[in-house]
Amino acid sequence: MKAAILKGIGDIHIEHREIPQPAENEVRLKVLMAGICGSDSSIYHGKLIAPLPVIPGHEAVGIVEALGAAVSSLRVGQRVTIHPNYFCSDCSMCNKGLTNICRNKIRLGVDINGVFADYVVVPADALYPLPDSLSNEVAVFAEPLAVAAHAVKLANLKNEDRVLVFGAGVIGQLTLQMARLHSQDITACDLVQSRLELAKRMGARNTISDQSELDACESAFDVIFETSGAPPALDMGIKLAAPGGKIVLLGLPGQSHPVPTVQIVRKELNILGSMIYTDEIEQCIDILDQGRIQTRPLVSGVISLDQLSTNLANFNAPQRMKTLVAINSL
Ligand SMILES: [Zn+2]
Ligand SMILES: [Zn+2]
Repeated sequence: MKAAILKGIGDIHIEHREIPQPAENEVRLKVLMAGICGSDSSIYHGKLIAPLPVIPGHEAVGIVEALGAAVSSLRVGQRVTIHPNYFCSDCSMCNKGLTNICRNKIRLGVDINGVFADYVVVPADALYPLPDSLSNEVAVFAEPLAVAAHAVKLANLKNEDRVLVFGAGVIGQLTLQMARLHSQDITACDLVQSRLELAKRMGARNTISDQSELDACESAFDVIFETSGAPPALDMGIKLAAPGGKIVLLGLPGQSHPVPTVQIVRKELNILGSMIYTDEIEQCIDILDQGRIQTRPLVSGVISLDQLSTNLANFNAPQRMKTLVAINSL
């Protein structure tokens, strides 16, 4: 099979590999469509440490091609998407339902070979069948949408909440749309004008692009979602949050940044970390199938596996949204 092998920082090449065989409880998928995620770029650029060599990629739609001996829950030919963070179901976090922060988590495309290949093996219980009505191009968003859904769930949004979304990249646009299912009053903040125009199309009522506009919004928001990962963003969020407000952090900053702790106490702010998702992927498949979230405007390109290297090298282009990788056809 053809596979994209990452061997070192900035070093990814297409090579031929043996087709992997599923173990007892695994399934082999023929990968149809994959999505490139920020974490793929982070591994490629050496900001997220993975044991190399590895085949990256974790967002995918595939067809069940072969079943391990003990698998009875799926059938060959079924189209599925993947929950790519395998949890142990047995540790103290899993026992509390916090499977997203399982102590023994295995990340597809980081710790083990992922989906940027013709075939991938995946545990059967990490797969979700897809309805025929949902196209590959839309279904591949179920995993990133689950990241947004988890953050919005943690925020427990009320109809009257004034919401700010920091960062209008893919996760920001999806978070904005998930929040929009609960509140009409959404403001998007980003430095890139084209992303804010997109945010308006996705349902943002207001947009903010510069510091003076931000300064004018002191204590104006009940709920703030931080998706940018920019180190000073929490600092700004604390200023912009209304007393009693919530700040949900889903962008992973490259480094920590000091924050005004006095303001957190005085305003009695709730600051929450949101890490990927627990069981939201299944619900997100339904939401996508119902057409309640727009994904097509978020696709900035569809490439082939051979173009992956160039694409990852240029990952931080400001106009970029989600790039899809078309790997096999049916
Ligand atoms: Zn992802
Ligand atoms: Zn666990």
